[in-house]
Amino acid sequence: AASQQPQLPPKRPLEGVRHVIAVASGKGGVGKSTTAANLALALAGLGQKVGVLDADIYGPSQHRILGLAGKPELTDNKQLEPKRAFGLKAMTIGLLVPEDQAMIWRGPMVQGALNQLLREVAWAPLDILVIDMPPGTGDAQLTISQQAPLSGAVVVSTPQDLALIDATRAVSMFKKVAIPILGVVENMSTYICPNCGHEAHIFGHGGAHDEAMRLGIDFLGEIPLHADIRRTSDEGTPIMIEAPDGPHAAAYRAIAERV
Ligand code: ADP
Repeated sequence: AASQQPQLPPKRPLEGVRHVIAVASGKGGVGKSTTAANLALALAGLGQKVGVLDADIYGPSQHRILGLAGKPELTDNKQLEPKRAFGLKAMTIGLLVPEDQAMIWRGPMVQGALNQLLREVAWAPLDILVIDMPPGTGDAQLTISQQAPLSGAVVVSTPQDLALIDATRAVSMFKKVAIPILGVVENMSTYICPNCGHEAHIFGHGGAHDEAMRLGIDFLGEIPLHADIRRTSDEGTPIMIEAPDGPHAAAYRAIAERV
């Protein structure tokens, strides 16, 4: 399959960044960005220096989730200074382009923007750079897979059949470009009613686990569908920060320990 891939220059390492991991999903809306932000915070909580690169060019959301604002400054050697949020370094196209402006870029411009986010941001020194990937398996995903020195990828899926089929496609894409799959996270796994604590399985349950087993890849854990996770993401203070001692933070920490 490798011979079918476009010929691109070999990956250059990112100086001063030890590991780069991608958080990916087969389709949008499954909670990839929320998972990426909370996973990054959980990794930072384990004592790592962590950065978040929002590569979701057409639908960036890390500025909202991590509460970032203002245009980034330039460093002395003309790199973009990453924003700081809860001990993380972060950069997103969402800070560089007005929110109400649609990104109607063609492939080469997307490639250029992704390379800029990767190479022209003062990321170093970092232990782990977490890349919030665009959903799906298109051009932008291929660019990152081939340009970024990825150590591996985490695939986020809901338990629902359709999302799983798409997640399987994402897994297959990473396999084709020889990037190790670190494992699968089942998001929106169990619905917990914030009033009474009753549990229901709105999108089913265990589907991502079963699919991971079928594909022979690791299952990293499940995150429930909970109003607090949605609210904290929208408010710009992720659940890892708002409730570090709560059950959701514990679930993200358990995933971080397995990555
Ligand atoms: P994606 O990056 O896959 O498009 P997002 O992380 O933006 O998904 O999540 C989509 C929506 O679902 C957001 O409103 C987010 O706050 C919410 N969300 C994500 N994960 C959960 C969860 N586990 N429980 C409740 N809401 C969630």
